[in-house]
Amino acid sequence: ASYMAKIPQAPPDRILGLVNQFMNDPNPSKVDLTVGVYRDNAGNVPTFKSVQNAQHLLHTVPSLRKDLSYLPIIGHPNYRNKVLNFLFHDGCPEIGPEIIYQDRVSFVQTLSGTGALSVTARFLSNFISDSIIIPQLSWANHANVFKNNGFRNISYYPYYSNEKIVLKDWLNHLINIQKTDREVTSNSKPSCILLHACCHNPTGLDPTKEQWDQILDTIYDLNLIPIIDMAYQGLESGDVLKDSYLLRKVLNKKRYKNWKNGIYLCQSFAKNMGLYGERVGSLSIILPETNSGNKSTSIRENIDSQLKQIIRSMYSSPPGYGARIVSLILSDKDLKDQWFLDVKEMVDRLNDVRYKLSQKLNWNSIIDLNQQHGMFYFTNLSPIQVERLKNQFAIYLTTDGRLSLSGINDLNVDYICNSILNVL
Ligand code: PMP
Repeated sequence: ASYMAKIPQAPPDRILGLVNQFMNDPNPSKVDLTVGVYRDNAGNVPTFKSVQNAQHLLHTVPSLRKDLSYLPIIGHPNYRNKVLNFLFHDGCPEIGPEIIYQDRVSFVQTLSGTGALSVTARFLSNFISDSIIIPQLSWANHANVFKNNGFRNISYYPYYSNEKIVLKDWLNHLINIQKTDREVTSNSKPSCILLHACCHNPTGLDPTKEQWDQILDTIYDLNLIPIIDMAYQGLESGDVLKDSYLLRKVLNKKRYKNWKNGIYLCQSFAKNMGLYGERVGSLSIILPETNSGNKSTSIRENIDSQLKQIIRSMYSSPPGYGARIVSLILSDKDLKDQWFLDVKEMVDRLNDVRYKLSQKLNWNSIIDLNQQHGMFYFTNLSPIQVERLKNQFAIYLTTDGRLSLSGINDLNVDYICNSILNVL
């Protein structure tokens, strides 16, 4: 008997399935507001000026021209250097340099944010934990990535209800499950917890800085392992450095140096450099400080070697082109300044669209649009209303009512607002 005939059909990806439907929709007024890809007011996916300049240099400066050979398993050496520097020196100047000096970061270039999460999941499930708690409402792929990389227990913590973050429920949930875990199994392994660094997807609502202090203290006390997903760095404030505040919080507080099983940072240049398809990102595992205060080299080297083996088995080595672009931009002051401007310009437009929507919808019953940040507007439309938008008006949102702001431009904004008001 063949097992093949018994394979059930997997459910379509919640987002990419819709994109397919959109492409086949004959309606000339159709609008795609599903995927988190930035578009300019003309509806194009722009190549950032900084990236264009770096591309030009790569093609014209002979010393920068490279052959198409493999990169090392753990990534482009210059990329590794520059990104570490960007995240830990520029991003966390108070403590980052010391952490690097102590050799407490195991770092690999990854296939964008998804690759970083996948390598994290494989590493953790091999050695430390196969349980994770994800926010209730999260990027649909989170559970998928962890499930397909060795995680056996995936559960959810309350995050959002009635247009608000439900902090109390969130923290009580964590405390309760830890208690039950301990009662049921005497030596239960620690659980992981997934945190969105900023621009929570899909709600666009992030805890305040004070709430984060409380959250991190609770997570630390419960011995949970933080996995920080930083896919939208820069899209909250328009400033990439400002937006790594969660990383700073987790590194700066003294007692968190003892975070026993490490802190995992999964970072991506897809959105904030517009490098989506080039798949450029990184995983940093921040190790706890040793008791003696000595360097952590031997532990770090063992972890490096395991990451290397995992990557070798998954895809052997990462792609080169995007990594070269990123390292050039991070190496050159003018290019870097231009990049900061590019991010600011993108976020200004997103905020402008957000503002226009809030004016035109004049929609009292919904959350103040301007409290949300990032690429999306979480509309709170019901699945039925979302379905009507699609069927009657050919406007595509994800079923949870999330709308990608950058698909809106001067030409379609009125059509979109009128249609939304119509389905209410
Ligand atoms: N995390 C979140 C929350 C996301 O929204 C995304 C992209 N949609 C990612 C991670 C990963 O994206 P990428 O693999 O393209 O970097």
